[in-house]
Amino acid sequence: MYAIPLIRVPRLLERNRTSFPYHNISIITSFDTIVKPFFTILSHYKILDRPHKKIQLENTDCMYKFRLKKLLSVFLCALLLTACNQAPPRATSSFNKYLPPSFDDFSENLEAITSSESKNASPSTSDDIWDVSDVDISYVDSTKKLISFTFDDTPARTLENILSVFAAFNETHESCRATATLFVNSSRLDNQSMHLLHTASALGFELGNHTHSHFDLTALDETELKTEIEKTDKLLFGIDRKPVHLLRAPFGKTDERIKRISKAPIIDWTIDTLDWTGIDENAVYEQVFSAKRDGSIVLMHDGYPATVSALKRLLPDLANSGYQVVSVSAMAKAHSCPLRKGRVYIRARKQKVK
Ligand SMILES: [Zn+2]
Repeated sequence: MYAIPLIRVPRLLERNRTSFPYHNISIITSFDTIVKPFFTILSHYKILDRPHKKIQLENTDCMYKFRLKKLLSVFLCALLLTACNQAPPRATSSFNKYLPPSFDDFSENLEAITSSESKNASPSTSDDIWDVSDVDISYVDSTKKLISFTFDDTPARTLENILSVFAAFNETHESCRATATLFVNSSRLDNQSMHLLHTASALGFELGNHTHSHFDLTALDETELKTEIEKTDKLLFGIDRKPVHLLRAPFGKTDERIKRISKAPIIDWTIDTLDWTGIDENAVYEQVFSAKRDGSIVLMHDGYPATVSALKRLLPDLANSGYQVVSVSAMAKAHSCPLRKGRVYIRARKQKVK
């Protein structure tokens, strides 16, 4: 099992060279400081060199020395590989959300990694589990891989276009119908956008809470923080009759206080399309298509024409690649992946059936 990281490091370097600068730094550092010395040791003790020749040993004393060296090299290898497995910064790094799904190639574990902090979080009760009993997954094809599209800062000027792209796709792809989660800033709501969100909700789109005013929640006091979240929940209740909604913190900034206060799971993302930087449609498309993986959550924004154009190509191309695009709660339910209140999620992978 220890051989897997070594084989995959060069491939990861190649694959991620262009799109994930932070990721490259950590991998290159790991490679130079850990993997390279490992090969040097193997070469030094002639384990890698000239494998077709047997090493000739002249006497017993030399044999013992060789065995001692071999034993030492095996011990060092085990030590280095253990360090290599611990080296990736995903568990504690603030760059977690920027890591591509391929980072998980280091792990053979196919169980859902549902929360970036789940190992350190306090024990949960069944009351903490996000209720998905009302979430419709009748349209989800269990033979497909799932990917969740999320649109932040909605309603904005392209909401109608986004919904039109989904509607046009669904007309011709009844067996692979697509939905998404719309993270709403309730301060942006007006009569027209309320109407659009009503329609979206009726069509199976999930409405999420992106707070009322899009302030950095970590900078607010507790009363302001609660108001920012509760205002949006109340306004969305008028549309979908749900009292609480999945939370996406503005700028993805959360802290322990926000997690404690939140009555819903906090949804981050696996893939940032970077559409908010003003990149063109091809770049948005590539950000998603090159990093797609079963259970990924994709961050997109309302208000960018390039996102709408990329969406027109992504929906059919993902369908042709065996993916179905669904909302976050639908993906979590279809993947039997329980979401817990106050936890931060970056993906929702399929869980093993026990
Ligand atoms: Zn936002």
